[in-house]
Amino acid sequence: METASIGQTVTPEFNHVRHVLAVASGKGGVGKSLVSAMAAVELARRGFKVGIIDADITGPSIPRLFGLNARPESSTVGIVPPETRTGIKLISVNMFLEDSNQAVIWRGPLLTSAIKQFWTDVVWGDLDVLIMDLPPGTADVPLTAFQSLPVDAILMVTTPQELASVIVEKAAGMAKQMHKPILGIVENMAMATCPHCGEAFELFGPSHAQELADRIGAPILARMPIDSNVTLQADTGHVEDVEMPSFAPVTEALAEYIATTSTNTAAPAKPATPQA
Ligand code: ADP
Ligand code: MG
Repeated sequence: METASIGQTVTPEFNHVRHVLAVASGKGGVGKSLVSAMAAVELARRGFKVGIIDADITGPSIPRLFGLNARPESSTVGIVPPETRTGIKLISVNMFLEDSNQAVIWRGPLLTSAIKQFWTDVVWGDLDVLIMDLPPGTADVPLTAFQSLPVDAILMVTTPQELASVIVEKAAGMAKQMHKPILGIVENMAMATCPHCGEAFELFGPSHAQELADRIGAPILARMPIDSNVTLQADTGHVEDVEMPSFAPVTEALAEYIATTSTNTAAPAKPATPQA
């Protein structure tokens, strides 16, 4: 197998990507990669054609969630992304490193050009949605990653502690500045279940989700519990087997967005729709 190198632009007729969805968070460790992966898994279960760009160089974890060690192959038309068991196409910065455990210390411009090339040089083929797992925060790196692709909507991931802080609002502000609609907020790790009595409790205290939703004008799509089975499945490469009933409204919202908004990109980005 020939390992891919970047630099050859895919002829536009090979790529028909209808929607690009970015998954963003104010900080790391809130479950952004898990949510990106779950969104892809659930949409693929519904028959949508899905791809993921792992743009989070601070912790590229998407291939690990899917248990995928394959490297992208190069073809005469461009880089061919490896596919997961259920047919989701993946590209990650990790796949281009000699050793996938190597720490990535990429500077902003290098990352931006890599992400741009994930868009221009990869043979995505026909996709209903390409999900981008963004680096966390509101600094240059997520911003440029965001600008490197024709993103048309955003899903925000937060935890209860983070919801109270201004960082989420800042991240939301960034989205607004770019005139991209925030489809909604996923409040992750919202509660836990007592292993003794089975009672659900708010591990991180009461939720501020609704206040935040009101401030940024986007709905709370789901409040997801901490589930140790999910951690185990995710961290052993079996995210495609995860069943998370609390995620259903997120899938619903994304599926509806994909089905009802006009098709995107491949060529020029569609005009932005600012959110009120
Ligand atoms: P981020 O991408 O925001 O840094 P991850 O998606 O990598 O965060 O999640 C961090 C860790 O927490 C991972 O081990 C993940 O499997 C676990 N995790 C995230 N959300 C949940 C949840 N709701 N229940 C159980 N484990 C979770
Ligand atoms: Mg991550």
